[in-house]
Amino acid sequence: MTRALQILTGRRFTVEEYVDEFGTKKDGNGNLRVRPTVVCVACRQPMHTVSENIPSTARTWGHNPDPNAWCPLKQSAGERYEILPPIDPNPEAGAAIRSSFFENWEHHWAHTAEIVPMVSIFLFINFIKEADRKKLWENRGMQEWFLPYIFLSMYEIEPPHSATGRKTRPHWVRCRFDARVRTFGDLWIRPQGDWGFIRSEYRVPPRGGVPGPTHLIDTDPVTPDPDFLARVRPYANSFERDKMKSNFPVEIA
Ligand SMILES: [Zn+2]
Repeated sequence: MTRALQILTGRRFTVEEYVDEFGTKKDGNGNLRVRPTVVCVACRQPMHTVSENIPSTARTWGHNPDPNAWCPLKQSAGERYEILPPIDPNPEAGAAIRSSFFENWEHHWAHTAEIVPMVSIFLFINFIKEADRKKLWENRGMQEWFLPYIFLSMYEIEPPHSATGRKTRPHWVRCRFDARVRTFGDLWIRPQGDWGFIRSEYRVPPRGGVPGPTHLIDTDPVTPDPDFLARVRPYANSFERDKMKSNFPVEIA
């Protein structure tokens, strides 16, 4: 990880910034220096500097070893969140959330763009069809405002294909919930939304494929906004509107 978080102050430090501010690991007498604790933005577990004294290497942060600590950022790219059909579905509530979602889809789309600009509308359509297949809407505890976060957490978000799109977002993005949400089941038991959201940017691997830890640029916390439906200005361009209408002709007039 590029920047670790000091919880008390909310400040985030690269290893270089941390050493500049709090000094090297050992003081002039060779004794370990007492420096403030910093944590991972996703799991809030303490971190330590890696290769702090080796200037030629990439200096970074590592999690302190703890086999019981789970962190979404330690998971490999393949382990994404998956929608499982509800065990105890609530079809009435589900139908209400689904129809409200279609009424507000441009609000959802506008909020998605605030978190990650230039996401493909085809990915969004794919998500809605998956939500239908797995009855995502019918989970007890499901909230409509969760939807952009659930959507973004499920996919590898490649940079746009067009040259102009790449100017807006040249990097690959991967979103995760923080460590409180290990599976979507953890969302349904937290309907008040006491969880965090994380957005990581990666350089596109020069030889193709999916970016790994060496391509990581930075990881930022995103503050979940339970009120975005009332706040954002609904937006979609005419191409996106056409694609949504042709895929959901019954729902979108
Ligand atoms: Zn972590």
